Amino acid sequence: MQFVDLKGQYNKIKPEVDAAIAEVLAGTAFIKGPQVALFEENLSRFTGAKHVIGCANGTDALQIALMALELQPGDEVIVPSFTYVASAEVIALLGLVPVMVDVDARTFNILPESMERALSPRTKAIIPVHLYGQCAPMLEVLQFAKAHNLRVVEDTAQALGAEYLFPDGTKAQAGTMGDIGCTSFFPTKNLGAYGDGGALFTNDDALAERIKMIANHGQRVKYHHSLIGCNSRLDTIQAAILDVKLKYLPDYLKARREAAAFYDKALAETALAGYIELPYRAPYSTHTFHQYTIIAHPLQRGADASSVRDALKAHLAQAGIPSMVYYPLPLQEQEAFKGVAKAVGGLENAAGLSASVLSLPMHTELTEPIQSEVVAACKEFFAKFAL
Ligand SMILES: *Cc1c(COP(=O)(O)O)cnc(C)c1O
Repeated sequence: MQFVDLKGQYNKIKPEVDAAIAEVLAGTAFIKGPQVALFEENLSRFTGAKHVIGCANGTDALQIALMALELQPGDEVIVPSFTYVASAEVIALLGLVPVMVDVDARTFNILPESMERALSPRTKAIIPVHLYGQCAPMLEVLQFAKAHNLRVVEDTAQALGAEYLFPDGTKAQAGTMGDIGCTSFFPTKNLGAYGDGGALFTNDDALAERIKMIANHGQRVKYHHSLIGCNSRLDTIQAAILDVKLKYLPDYLKARREAAAFYDKALAETALAGYIELPYRAPYSTHTFHQYTIIAHPLQRGADASSVRDALKAHLAQAGIPSMVYYPLPLQEQEAFKGVAKAVGGLENAAGLSASVLSLPMHTELTEPIQSEVVAACKEFFAKFAL
């Protein structure tokens, strides 16, 4: 069994993808070919973001976003401690200070109360991450940012296509609510390329212009450099592939949601018995199920949650079922961030989740027999502990 089935997905659209690649090869415009602008336009239409600017990968998108905001060395950027390293790495890379805050134990996303405690006179921006495919609490994030004059950079690498519902009934897609949204087209993401790729979203014309320049060596006119930038482009071949796959993104998201609904139903008893917690659906967001992540509870009072999670993972592995731990260490405990990042409070939820989360196989090609196998192995594991 595979954790992600990229081959099965490719086989279904092979003629279209192969033709798109062949067209790029025939045209030989490998850099900034017409397919890049076309894909950016189509993604802009899909997300509702006024500007979409392709770049080399999701990490670059985050770095370029922070560069475009003109922050000064020593400025502080609030980021959840329970996320992929890239969300915080780029902050430190630019000489800014990552200020790590706790997450909500149910949604896995930034905890609104924790932002207040992280505030200092040097706080300039906040990076909410839409982890596992569900939107962070953007209403609170945006209100907080507005009250304290902070810029908002959304990390929507895992949640392309998720939709946030505001109390007044308006909706917006992940990545289009803050000043800048950043996404990744890493092959396993909701919209995956056949290599690296990323994009930035913004509704601000001036920011869009700066982002385009920064991603292209700080130039607007060739060989005239007005900003320090970098070299980060979305390859034409990747754009051509992504443009084909974008048409199928609604189907892919539907397949993920259906697979999640199957797991929910099949694992309901196990959850009711108190062994695990199933993914929580926030009322303000749709879920794209980039990951289907359960929480393993300690089986005895005072026991270590990670021992259960790790034993479940080992049991699944023995049955030939892959599972993943995203992420085994909260960022403030990573060696690279020692002396670099500030941690605000005890970050108890982040620590607890690192010890107890387990992501089950989740992709667009799952079938009931495959999922039933996963569920049966989970149940078999917990049956040992039944009274
Ligand atoms: C994948 C990911 C990134 C980085 O994207 P790359 O394209 O791999 O550089 C950033 N943040 C989160 C939350 C991610 O999952």
